[in-house]
Amino acid sequence: MACTNKWSDIDAEKIIIEYTSKGVNEDIALRTYTARLLGSEPEMVLHGGGNTSVKTKIKDLFGEKIEVLCVKGSGWDLGTIEPEGHPAVELAPLLKLKELSSLSDEEMVTIQRKNLIDPKSPNPSVETLLHAFLPYKFVDHTHSIALLSLANQPNAKEICLKIFGKEMVIVPYVMPGFDLAKLAYDMHQNYKLNLSSKNDKLKGMILLKHGVFTFGDSAKESYSRMIEVVNKAENAIPRNINLDLNSSREKNLPSFDKYKFIPYLRGLISSELAKRGFSKRCIFEIRNDKKIKEISELCNLHELSERGVATPDHVIRTKSKPLILDEIPDSDFNFNTSNLHAENWLKKTKKLIECYIEQYQLYFESNNERVGNIKKNLDPLPRLIIIPKFGLIALGNSKKSACIAADIGQVWIETLLSAESFGEFRPVSEKDTFDLEYWSLEQAKLGSKKEPSNTGKVVVVTGAGGTIGSEISKVFYKSGAEIVCIDKNIVTAKETARLCGKNALAIECDLTSRDEIEKAFREIILQFGGVDILISNAGIALPGELHNMDDETLKLSLNINLLSHHYLSQESLKIFKSQDYFNLKSKNLLGGQLLYNISKQALNPGKGFGAYGISKSALLSLMKQYALEEGHNGIRSNCINADRIESGLLNKEMIKSRAKLRGLSEEEYMSGNLLNSEVKANDVAKAFLSLSKMKKTTGLILTVDGGNVAAMPR
Ligand SMILES: [Zn+2]
Repeated sequence: MACTNKWSDIDAEKIIIEYTSKGVNEDIALRTYTARLLGSEPEMVLHGGGNTSVKTKIKDLFGEKIEVLCVKGSGWDLGTIEPEGHPAVELAPLLKLKELSSLSDEEMVTIQRKNLIDPKSPNPSVETLLHAFLPYKFVDHTHSIALLSLANQPNAKEICLKIFGKEMVIVPYVMPGFDLAKLAYDMHQNYKLNLSSKNDKLKGMILLKHGVFTFGDSAKESYSRMIEVVNKAENAIPRNINLDLNSSREKNLPSFDKYKFIPYLRGLISSELAKRGFSKRCIFEIRNDKKIKEISELCNLHELSERGVATPDHVIRTKSKPLILDEIPDSDFNFNTSNLHAENWLKKTKKLIECYIEQYQLYFESNNERVGNIKKNLDPLPRLIIIPKFGLIALGNSKKSACIAADIGQVWIETLLSAESFGEFRPVSEKDTFDLEYWSLEQAKLGSKKEPSNTGKVVVVTGAGGTIGSEISKVFYKSGAEIVCIDKNIVTAKETARLCGKNALAIECDLTSRDEIEKAFREIILQFGGVDILISNAGIALPGELHNMDDETLKLSLNINLLSHHYLSQESLKIFKSQDYFNLKSKNLLGGQLLYNISKQALNPGKGFGAYGISKSALLSLMKQYALEEGHNGIRSNCINADRIESGLLNKEMIKSRAKLRGLSEEEYMSGNLLNSEVKANDVAKAFLSLSKMKKTTGLILTVDGGNVAAMPR
């Protein structure tokens, strides 16, 4: 599928008008425009990859015009870039660096930062000097799949010369930074010296085993040259490149049986992380459309997987190679009855993971020795797992990073297959991959911020569409977790999910139905790989006295306030135990958590609320029973006793009538507790979060009611 030139004079004019009215100059407006055009092509640029620049003049504080390089700043994606995504660096001091024979990475970063016009700007791209040295107004750089399929051939130089002739300068592989910038500049100058201006058809540069640069006097010229060069590469490749990141999950799941291994695998990987002092769990992204499955069935998959990454900076997202597992046995992963096939597969999988880790350690140690033992070991776990006839599982410490790894995994697959269709895929060596993986400037892209406490955990919240459920979801989302919002009302569930980031999952579910709960948990497994914390919050408060209560009312109350919590707990426990399959006999358990909202009715019954109080008292017993039964499995069971929270169960009208009945104002009624302070849904949510962090606590009722003597646990 060829790339089309999306340049439009009308759109360009629009963007100029839009940004010049905001004080941005025309060059930067056009830079923003074509950077976005490049960023809209995953074939060329993905997740912070690629970079673009423009040389222009801007006014300084004295109103004098100075020459600057506006180059992509770290943290920006080309697809969604804004003018401030190309921070301005004074050009003259950068150009002066050409005179040096060497410059360390740290010195390079310092000089680039020192010459930023706005010191608050993000760090300019690691490829800034290359952009600065090339004597063209606009410079574009991508990691196009088509180009990489050629640039990763063993005899790439000859191939590229044959295809592009005098249009491109071919630069051998050198790690990004000062050395590459200087080499590319010198080669460019030599090339120019040997050309008469009449023959000058130079459009760009191919960086072997890395990517492609194009340049020009205008944004349109540089961009159009990129499209032209990429299409020329594509035409030379027999295979059709077609990267579809959106339809990557098979549409009709034949049966859930073949997905049952997933929590076991997640547990295995998470346990290996935990063993090495990384307390976080991992999150899965499963991709298994027809094309990915086809690749997973290649007979030389093992050999191909060892070849390396398509372009070096992918290593920080995917490691240098995927882990290949055996085909999943056609049997049920249910160990109530002995199941040898599944058991053997799991044992073999554990061995393969250990083997991957061992190899990674060897790779780290030998290369670290080469560079003088100055690097700190990163976690050795794979980011991509390929299972024959199943597809690809990408993993990360969040859904976001798992999806990035999956996208880059698909780019790797496309590049590898296209390169193989042309000749042979031979990307950068192990040594070069290591230098990039452990390059401080690359690691900076992943961010050094301390991760929030629940990073990597999957938290299921029921009644998530209600006031309290929504607050719980938001509080846990802020603590780093992936959120599943379950509610019988899908509209409100979706609304809460929307407040919990792009990756939160909303599920409609009638919690009184075991079948529906099972179905919901399947969806969660497919989306995230497992579950870590259940917050069983949904409830119903049916009024009425017991002496004349009909059966239906009491049964409904028990179904929702007791049995649904039990069903949810059973499903969660199945997953917790699958995740801990290999740990159950050891002390290093991943465990899991059951958290219930029991309300004060369980401790202090209210007149006319028998059905509510009875079912909630039973729920308190359920919590204790699970604490008792599951403690040795590392699973904690706790609950919250909250009272008088404005919510769907205690709405404005009820507050009004109850306050009136007691001769109080609404405010007095709501803060009628020992602390004289209204308890809000957010207080309850924060109490759940505290409980989730209390590692040595199980079987506890935590009270969040502002103080109520009658409801104190006795
Ligand atoms: Zn690059």
